[in-house]
Amino acid sequence: METNIISNFKSLQNSIDNSLISSERDLNSIELLVVTKYQSIDNIQHLLKIGHRCFGENRVQEAKQKWNQLKKQYFDIQLHLIGPLQTNKVSDAVSVFDVIQSLDRLSLVEKLVSEQRKQNKSLRYYVQINIGKESQKTGLFPEEADSFLMHLRQDYTLSVEGIMCIPPANLDPSPYFNEMVNIAQRNSIQKISMGMSNDFDQAIACGATMIRIGRSIFR
Ligand SMILES: *Cc1c(COP(=O)(O)O)cnc(C)c1O
Repeated sequence: METNIISNFKSLQNSIDNSLISSERDLNSIELLVVTKYQSIDNIQHLLKIGHRCFGENRVQEAKQKWNQLKKQYFDIQLHLIGPLQTNKVSDAVSVFDVIQSLDRLSLVEKLVSEQRKQNKSLRYYVQINIGKESQKTGLFPEEADSFLMHLRQDYTLSVEGIMCIPPANLDPSPYFNEMVNIAQRNSIQKISMGMSNDFDQAIACGATMIRIGRSIFR
């Protein structure tokens, strides 16, 4: 018998396909990041067993505890950090993660560059945009994005492949998603990580390339 997690995952895949079709987008033009914060290793194993490999965690400590073990079992896991990164956690973050989606300041960039060299490992990066300019959220303000991205490209060796945001709760997210698309286009950024359980349909319609889903799978 299928577990709830697997059936939720499959019906989510159907909903993603439907969103893509109604937005006249290609099937397979969305990457699904499964967010496993607070989830047990057993719950995660259900998805690994059916071949899913792209996962996200918010906290470095929690990620280490769960994923060091899982990564020994499955060598092709892609683990994304989607929560804020403190400079004193950079070493652990570089060792357990493959992608960091919360890049938001130059002091962090410098620590990451030197830690990557130390560990002889290159991660991939998304710059986080505080698209609603909310005081409780981290990320660059939208008007800071262009100069930050230009500075990164000119002066640092980090590979920035995308931008990421969490729009304000309880407001129509579409204007914020559209602004992300503008930022990406004018900076020749290909990937946009936006859309969660309650707004992935709008995110796909606006042009997300990756959605990050937790609750609608693990409910
Ligand atoms: C928890 C979280 C998600 C997943 O949100 P759900 O509502 O559980 O789908 C996505 N992105 C970030 C940054 C998160 O913290």
